[in-house]
Amino acid sequence: MIYSFEVFPPKPTAPVEAVSETFAELATLKPDFISVTYGAGGGVTGGQLTCELSARLKNEYHVKPVAHLPCISYTKEEISSVLEQFKEYGITDILALRGDKSPERPEKHDFRYASELIDFIRTKGDFNLYGACYPEIHPEARSAADDIRHLKEKVDKGATHLISQLFFDNNSFYQFLEKCDIAGIHVPIEAGIMPVVNEKQIQRMVSLCGASLPRKFTVMMQRFGHSPEAIRDAGIAYAVDQIVDLVANGVDGIHLYTMNNPLVARRITEAVSGILGR
Ligand code: FAD
Repeated sequence: MIYSFEVFPPKPTAPVEAVSETFAELATLKPDFISVTYGAGGGVTGGQLTCELSARLKNEYHVKPVAHLPCISYTKEEISSVLEQFKEYGITDILALRGDKSPERPEKHDFRYASELIDFIRTKGDFNLYGACYPEIHPEARSAADDIRHLKEKVDKGATHLISQLFFDNNSFYQFLEKCDIAGIHVPIEAGIMPVVNEKQIQRMVSLCGASLPRKFTVMMQRFGHSPEAIRDAGIAYAVDQIVDLVANGVDGIHLYTMNNPLVARRITEAVSGILGR
C-alpha cells in the first residue's frame, strides 16, 4: 500500500524557507514519497523551485521526492535544461504532465501531450516516470473510452505509476479502475484524496476539476460551512472515511493532496495508520 503526499512551492516572491517547516512536519509522517507541483505560472522560476524543494526533501528530510513537470508551455530545449537540473540535484522521479492550457502561458508546440513528454524524457536519462489520471474523465477528453486509450498510451510509453485527480465519490474511482483493468493498464494507480477543510477550497477545487459531489458531501458543506472548526473536522472525517473504504476495497495507494497543511495531514495519517499498516 503506497501512501504519499503532494505539496506546492511557495510563491516565487517568497523564500524557499517559507515552506521548510511544513516539509519537515510532513516528513515526520513518513510517506513513501512527497510530490512537488511545478509552480503555477510556470516559467523557469517554477522549475527551479520544484527542483530545489525536491532536493531539500531528499537531502534534509530523507523522503523520496517526485518532481512534477508540465510540458506544453516549454520547448524541448527548456525541458532538457530542467532535466539536467533534476540530474544535478539527484532527482530521479518525475510526474510527467501536459499542463493546463492558459492564455497566460502560451503553448510552445514542441509537446502536445504528456505521453510525448514521457517519450522525450526517456531519451534523456534514467528517470522513474509517473503519470496523471482522471477517474471522472479529463475535462477535454472526447469520451471516457478515448481518455482511457490515451492513458494506456502513456503507460505503454513508460509511465510506471499513476496518480489520480481528486474525487469525492469512491464509486467513480472503482469504476475507473475496472475500465483501466479491461484496457490492460496494470501499473499502480494511487487514489487522489483532498481533505476539504474550508469553504473557499471546495468552491475553487470543484470549479477547477469538475469532481462530482455526493449528497453526503454537499450536505456536510452546507451544514458546517459557516464554522471554520466544524468544516475542518468534517473535511478530515470525510477524507478518512474515503480512505478506509478505498483501502478496504484493495486500492494500490493513497495520494493525499496536503495543500501544505501539516496539521490536517497529521490528523488523517494518525486516523488511518492502523488500516494502512504503518
Ligand atoms: P495528458 O495525459 O496529455 O491528457 C490531456 C488530454 O489530452 C486528455 O483529455 C487526454 O485524453 C488527451 N490526449 C492524450 N493523448 C492524446 C492523443 N494522443 N490524442 C488526442 N488526445 C490525447 N499541472 C501543472 O501545471 N503543474 C502541476 O504540478 C500539476 N500537477 C498535477 C498532479 C496531478 C496528480 C494531476 C491529476 C494533475 C496535475 N496538473 C498539474 C494538472 C494537469 O497538467 C492537467 O490536468 C492537464 O490538463 C492534463 O495533464 P495530463 O498530463 O493528464 O495530460
